[in-house]
Amino acid sequence: MQAEIISNGDELTSGKILDTNSQWLSVQLADIGIAALYHTTVGDDLAAMIDVLRIAVERADLILWTGGLGPTADDLTRQAIAECIGVPLEKNEHSMQLIQEIFQRRGREMPKANEVQAFQPRGSKPIRNPHGTAPGIDLTVTRSKSVKGRLDFFRIMAYPGVPAEMKEMWQDSGQQTIQKMLDQLTGQKRVLRFRAIHSFGLGESQIEAMLPDIINRTHEPKVGITANQATITLRIVAESATEEECFKKIEPTANLIYNTLGQLIFGEGDDRLQEVVCRKLNASRKTLAVIEAGTRGLLAEAIASSKEPPNCFAGGIVLPSKQPIDPDEMIRRGRRLFNVDYLLLVGAYPIGRPDRNRTEETFVAVIDARKTDLQESIIALQYYPYVGHPDIIDDLYIKRAIDLLRKIICYTSDT
Ligand code: ATP
Ligand code: MG
Repeated sequence: MQAEIISNGDELTSGKILDTNSQWLSVQLADIGIAALYHTTVGDDLAAMIDVLRIAVERADLILWTGGLGPTADDLTRQAIAECIGVPLEKNEHSMQLIQEIFQRRGREMPKANEVQAFQPRGSKPIRNPHGTAPGIDLTVTRSKSVKGRLDFFRIMAYPGVPAEMKEMWQDSGQQTIQKMLDQLTGQKRVLRFRAIHSFGLGESQIEAMLPDIINRTHEPKVGITANQATITLRIVAESATEEECFKKIEPTANLIYNTLGQLIFGEGDDRLQEVVCRKLNASRKTLAVIEAGTRGLLAEAIASSKEPPNCFAGGIVLPSKQPIDPDEMIRRGRRLFNVDYLLLVGAYPIGRPDRNRTEETFVAVIDARKTDLQESIIALQYYPYVGHPDIIDDLYIKRAIDLLRKIICYTSDT
């Protein structure tokens, strides 16, 4: 099955807002095993909308459309679908009722303009919209002549543009509807499950070189590798009749990845470094404060925004990055203010932008704040050359600092 995602709106084509709907829907489709081959964006122009739909139904079997379902004159999606297929728009009494109910619940009279939202291309079904007024459109059309490589039908599913409504509708019914269609097509029930294993510390190509046989297109189950701000993720995907079987298929590959990458792996799924560290600190009832000179408070923000309860986090000191500051001075300041088990430090950045021709360094350090002797209290101190793109350098130092702490609290015996 081939899918195409179409986003609609002048706001998108004029650059006023970014099309996040297509990105989100692509990820959702991938989760049920469908790769979107095209993303198309079109303004609020009826002829252009009909045009892109015509092209889409020739090259895709499933077309997910977002936007243009509102009640105003620039909302032309209903019309575009009807005209492309060559069917009239008809008032759907059930939709009418649902829209009226929404207004009743809001304690308002339904404006005349909203009536248009109950019109649907003939042959389509409305898609329930739990919190908005515009129902979606679900229309399956049998092809009049066969198209090479395509199924003998195509299906258009149109959702409102408002991201929250679109997502809710997808979760409410869209995903199940498409999953059911896939099951019918293959004549068997199949589910797709994945595990995403995250590592930090080595680059994508280095990780790939360590796992040559796994990240191979022919490997079963399939393993994809992605890099996002220095976090390298291995995503193992399996397809089977049941969820249990999927995870069983995934396990040997996951074990191999764990055995090969060892301590480079910090977590899975939604976990980021800060969740892993906070979880571990909370479990062992340890506390942490941060002192940062280079990273402008972003280290504190990263820890504070952990989805784990913030029990372990005592606070932070943010110093200007104007002059070099040595670890000893930072430790003294941290001790004066915080009564904690660990201090996590990021040193000052060198003056000016990162420079390829200079090899200045900035440190990250983990301090055992319970030890009185300054030198003895330094558990780990690492210097890294200050190079890299200015947009990612903060994030890199933050991750280095949190990762250094992670390795200490997760892998050394004194905690
Ligand atoms: P409405 O009833 O709100 O008019 P609609 O289905 O007509 O719903 P649009 O008018 O196309 O939707 O979009 C409504 C708002 O949703 C836009 O102003 C924009 O903020 C947001 N939006 C629309 N499409 C997208 C998109 N592809 N990505 C992100 N946001 C979007
Ligand atoms: Mg609109």
